[in-house]
Amino acid sequence: MTGQKPIGTTVLGYPRIGADRELKRALEKYWAGGLDEAALLEVGKNLRADTWRRLRDAGLDSVPSNTFSHYDQVLDTTALVGALPARFTELGLSPLDTYFAAARGVQDAPALEMTKWFDTNYHYLVPELGPDTAFTLGGTKPLDEYLEAKAAGIETRPVLVGPVTFLLLSKAAGNAPEGFQPLELLDPLLAVYCELLGKLHDAGAEWVQLDEPAFVGDRTDSDLDALAHAYEVLGGPARRPRLLVAGYFGNLGAGLAVLASSPVEALAVDLVTDPSAVDAVAAQTALQDKELLAGVVDGRNIWRTDPTVALSRAATLLGSAKTVSIATSCSLLHVPYDVEREAGLDERLRGWLAFAAQKVDEVVLLGKALSQGTETVTAELDAARAAIADRAASKDLLNAEVRARIDALKPEDAERAPYALRAAAQQAALGLPALPTTTIGSFPQTVDIRKARAAHKAGKLGDDAYRAAMHAEIERVVRLQEDLGLDVLVHGEPERNDMVQYFAEQLAGFAATDNGWVQSYGSRCVRPPILFGDVSRPVPMTVGWSRYAQELTDKPVKGMLTGPVTILAWSFVRDDQPLGDTALQVALAIRDEVADLEAAGIGIIQVDEPALRELLPLREAEHQAYFDWAVRSFRVSTSGIADATQIHTHMCYSEFGEVLPAIDALDADVTSIEAARSKMEVLTDLDSGGFGRGVGPGVYDIHSPRVPDVAEVSGLLRTAVGAVPADRVWVNPDCGLKTRGYAEVEPALRNLVAAAKLIRAEQPT
Ligand code: GLN
Ligand code: ZN
Repeated sequence: MTGQKPIGTTVLGYPRIGADRELKRALEKYWAGGLDEAALLEVGKNLRADTWRRLRDAGLDSVPSNTFSHYDQVLDTTALVGALPARFTELGLSPLDTYFAAARGVQDAPALEMTKWFDTNYHYLVPELGPDTAFTLGGTKPLDEYLEAKAAGIETRPVLVGPVTFLLLSKAAGNAPEGFQPLELLDPLLAVYCELLGKLHDAGAEWVQLDEPAFVGDRTDSDLDALAHAYEVLGGPARRPRLLVAGYFGNLGAGLAVLASSPVEALAVDLVTDPSAVDAVAAQTALQDKELLAGVVDGRNIWRTDPTVALSRAATLLGSAKTVSIATSCSLLHVPYDVEREAGLDERLRGWLAFAAQKVDEVVLLGKALSQGTETVTAELDAARAAIADRAASKDLLNAEVRARIDALKPEDAERAPYALRAAAQQAALGLPALPTTTIGSFPQTVDIRKARAAHKAGKLGDDAYRAAMHAEIERVVRLQEDLGLDVLVHGEPERNDMVQYFAEQLAGFAATDNGWVQSYGSRCVRPPILFGDVSRPVPMTVGWSRYAQELTDKPVKGMLTGPVTILAWSFVRDDQPLGDTALQVALAIRDEVADLEAAGIGIIQVDEPALRELLPLREAEHQAYFDWAVRSFRVSTSGIADATQIHTHMCYSEFGEVLPAIDALDADVTSIEAARSKMEVLTDLDSGGFGRGVGPGVYDIHSPRVPDVAEVSGLLRTAVGAVPADRVWVNPDCGLKTRGYAEVEPALRNLVAAAKLIRAEQPT
């Protein structure tokens, strides 16, 4: 730890799925048995080498490593510290397959729970820890990747999930005693981290980055004590790399002072998400001996950085710390690779954008401007400023009609009749049995469906032929559901590539990318649309498909829409107006669609809001304001219809505790909610909060290839009817079925229907 040069410009992480989704393809081939382990590992190796080279060649002072993952960085950490649950390690599989078993589940070992990574659309696998968890250095991934880069001639900075964040993101294992807190395991975990840091030091690593984003949320005093203790311990040994602690996705708050007075050598702070962090950092006197990475380039959004704003934020901090360097606000994992690959985008819009490659260039440029003076890079700064000015001046963004409609909205436009009235009208109209069975919307997307969609998009399949192909698929799915004995059918969503993109492609104000893929979880990628202007709905988006399905059957067919919060959460949103304003514009478009579906004879309409939890601000002080606009936008979307029209909503893949009051406030008639992996826990919480409407706890974990048997599903249902009166319970999978195959879906749904019948028969009449 002698006086090396400062850490300098860097990014906190980089996309890893491959610019052409090479990793996704390789993983899926490997899982299907079409690729061996060596070939899969080779794909990863090439992706890493490519990233390191790219980052070094772009001129970053410090290049991160260990940002690669075969599935998830939290799962990597769990494996690294030897904490994979015994149900996976006892399977007798290779280390790699044990890891994948924990990620995806196998027949007798359900996967780890998956949940959102802070307020992003990335999902991590939740470690399960108990008092008997014995941490050991169970792997060498960070070391291996460090050495791999070194062998390629590139000095890197290994990135690790920080130990305190790791424990705060963990949950108590099923067999842990009541009240057990994973944080109790801090000391044994630190011992393993110390051992790893020693190995990295011996291998030559100068710096290690420890990510502690958990501290941008509200934390208790004991969490803060744990943070202080952790970095006291990790900072202790003389033989260790220098420590960079990164706190991103917001303002570190009280964690800042703790880290400032810890022995770590550098801090990375996010100055974008909450710009008031600039003042908080400037006021922090204990940073004088530390290097500071000023996160002024937004790692979460795709707009070009305003160099004037970024430089002024960074410059404000000069003098507050030993050195100040430019960095991204967080890992670039959350943005696509390269704008240069978007030939299809409107040229003017493209000029306003920066993806990962461009953000790296921005970091380098701003770094030069900060350290060598703006006059050394005048031309580049002028070009950046011109792009910012062009976007600001763009008048295309305004749609006067939409703005007038929003101004004219009245409170009653977000109100429906009392639930009891609606429930009676709906029962009269629909005549459903107790414990009605349904699905969340999508059915497996077969190769043929994807081919037809792609051919249509490419202009190789005409509109009529495309419609015929989709109609055939819809009919097949309707007949299958009739055969399975489901009560409320769906059309199966074959026409949708993605539940947000499908709508974005039809709404004005959005642009779609060709290659803008971002990892959502494991091998799953999404291509978030870019919401750049005012939103409106030129023509109906789903009515034709739903009407067609309804005409095929006497059973009710549920119309299927995506709600405004989720549309925003899964898009890159404009940063030039409050999110709530944008949400209302989307809400009006959905409202029109709901009205058109109802007019077309669709009596049940589901408006999915799986991302309701995801956009929840990390700090509680900001929750109410969020709930206000999120709930209002949903209610504007789903009001203005008959009492007899039943509104469903759907939520998945989060811990819902904090948003239960908002879920209630949505006032949907039926809410289906992820629950299988957490064994129905959410139900008790929901109903004890006074939620008096229909609820469909997911009884089949669709993110795993396992087929649950009748006993498993009926067991879950028994728990459900114990927690919620049976006349309000619906029976459905956890989520849409589009990522699964029919070989799993058919038996699973058959078992689901059989279990519902079983439990129905058990109910007192
Ligand atoms: N209706 C969507 C589907 O079934 C919902 C997906 C989701 O919740 N993510 O695919
Ligand atoms: Zn879902």
